[in-house]
Amino acid sequence: MNMDNDSYAQIIDSLHDGLYCVDNNNIITYWNKAAERISGFAAAEVLGKSSPGNLLIHMDIAGRSRSQDTCPLASTLIDGINREMEIYIQHKDGHRLPVLVRVSTIKDAAGNIIGGVELFTDISNLQVNHLRIAELEKLALLDNLTQLANRNYLERELQARFEEFKRHKVPFGVLFIDIDHFKTVNDTYGHDVGDEVLRHVARTFAANSRPFDLYGRWGGEEFLGIIRNVTADHLIHLGNRLRILIEHSDICHQERTINITVSMGATQVGEHDTIQTLIKRADTLLYASKQNGRNRLTPG
Ligand code: GH3
Ligand code: MG
Ligand code: MG
Repeated sequence: MNMDNDSYAQIIDSLHDGLYCVDNNNIITYWNKAAERISGFAAAEVLGKSSPGNLLIHMDIAGRSRSQDTCPLASTLIDGINREMEIYIQHKDGHRLPVLVRVSTIKDAAGNIIGGVELFTDISNLQVNHLRIAELEKLALLDNLTQLANRNYLERELQARFEEFKRHKVPFGVLFIDIDHFKTVNDTYGHDVGDEVLRHVARTFAANSRPFDLYGRWGGEEFLGIIRNVTADHLIHLGNRLRILIEHSDICHQERTINITVSMGATQVGEHDTIQTLIKRADTLLYASKQNGRNRLTPG
């Protein structure tokens, strides 16, 4: 088949996966349509710029950030080794979302590395979430500001999870989450920016949750995550992952970056719990996180 460069570009642009290329100096030379859709950045905004190493962070298994690591594509340019891994891209809107990346080198006829190519797939829960939002809206179970489940829906879900736990012994855990110093955000930047911060945090939950987990707005700047069939360790891991993703997100406001952190309480349902005792325990653990300096998760 004989194809000119335009035909290739058309095929690459029709891919479902994001794809971008860099030259040997890590300068972006190509950025396809799916890359624009997934990241929110248009080609014109990134072409000719340095590969977005600072837009990516790596998390280890315990949810600790390894943000000092260079981006996988930059590493591959140096050592020539192909890589595949899950990382978190920073969307143009500021929130983090998980992508699976596969990177390899581009070589010239003599075998010299002349650049690299990265393919990335959106593995967030956003597609499923769009369907869920439409359903919740119909039933008046949606929080309009954040597009997450509202308190009413969270309470129904807790009831359903208790039933499941009592009848079938399916365990579940909750994450009680509160934005740190949120009043200061409102006081400094105004209520509208405060609202934008709430939406931002909510997007991080939506993008990084699995279909069988539910995150909703409990009230004000408090959120509740209901996580099914989870061990204590896994619950802590999931919570810390979200906490670190929020810590490493940038919310841009008039050329300034607002940094947000959250505190959490994490606990699992026990034999003698009721909804009230479970939520109370999570709230007390959250309070301990605040007392101990914020931006942390307290399990118990
Ligand atoms: P802490 O770290 O201890 O949680 O401090 P904080 O400032 O986050 O906590 P506090 O409870 O003192 O303040 C919460 C603020 O959240 C006060 C309230 O005005 C604000 N808030 C509640 N709901 C909304 C909302 O829908 N939009 C905006 N912009 N602000 C809200
Ligand atoms: Mg609060
Ligand atoms: Mg708060």
